[in-house]
Amino acid sequence: MTTPLQFDLSTPDLSAWRAGNTGTEGVWHFDSGLPGRHVLISALIHGNELCGAWALKGMLEAGVRPQQGKLTLAFCNLAAFDRFDAGNHDASRFVDEDLNRQWSAERLQSSDTQERRRARELQPFVAQADWLLDIHSMHEPAAPLLVVGMQARNLALARVLRSPGHMVIDPGHQDGVRMRDHGRFGEMDSDGSDNGTRSVLIECGFHGDMSSRTVAQDMCVRFLQAAGTLPGDALQQLLPGWLQGDCERQWALEVTGPVVARSADFRFTQPFQGLECIAKAGTVIGWNGSEPVTTPYDDCVLVMPSVRQAKPGVTVVRFARRRPL
Ligand SMILES: [Zn+2]
Repeated sequence: MTTPLQFDLSTPDLSAWRAGNTGTEGVWHFDSGLPGRHVLISALIHGNELCGAWALKGMLEAGVRPQQGKLTLAFCNLAAFDRFDAGNHDASRFVDEDLNRQWSAERLQSSDTQERRRARELQPFVAQADWLLDIHSMHEPAAPLLVVGMQARNLALARVLRSPGHMVIDPGHQDGVRMRDHGRFGEMDSDGSDNGTRSVLIECGFHGDMSSRTVAQDMCVRFLQAAGTLPGDALQQLLPGWLQGDCERQWALEVTGPVVARSADFRFTQPFQGLECIAKAGTVIGWNGSEPVTTPYDDCVLVMPSVRQAKPGVTVVRFARRRPL
């Protein structure tokens, strides 16, 4: 068993913002009445990832409203968040199963679990959005990552955002479809054109680090400005101090494959923090039960290694090739 890491970020009081204004709990929607993108910013897809909840609460308290297009803010897994306990924070990731694996047509038809019922409630808002920023945090202390999927249009957006330093290009997970891959968001670019959607998932660092909130707030400002929802000066006025400095260098990490645990008995050879670059192919980095796990090529980068949720079928690390963005 691993012991919980120290948790410094306090739990936001969402009571004033819980109801939403859409008839769907936790979902706020604002319409400028003018043409423009429909932007969705989501938080608490995982109940123990508080940084995004802080950012949404901050935007609601500041009275952020779109000057063009529409803005939806969604506190997603409130049922899991209600169980949050800083002393056992891994336990409130979800109630029955991972809400970020329920976004296939098949699972959205099912109401077998708390998360599938919640995904069904949220789905119309996801389907209507043009741009999605999904805010997450991580099991372990690590540098922030922007997960952009396989679409070149999302990588192009990452360049415009100028933060964070690392983009993860990946096809998702074997155990289900993520919200950021749902519907139009999951469509590939065809012949150099795109369908107008953007969907990125920001991993803001460790769940309990104060800096995760800073990263979430910074990314909200960047995203709203890039989407044209509000101009930079209005954002600066409404959300003073949220925007941080640009990253000097940005890297694209092309995920080549996951390592999937066969059982809870998975262990790494070192306490990897993520983004380590392992020089030699064939280096043993962990043990999947009794079987060694080796790097498949030279200069292999480890993306989000963690055994905290290890059980059969769960991804414990992903391998990636690195190149300048
Ligand atoms: Zn998450």
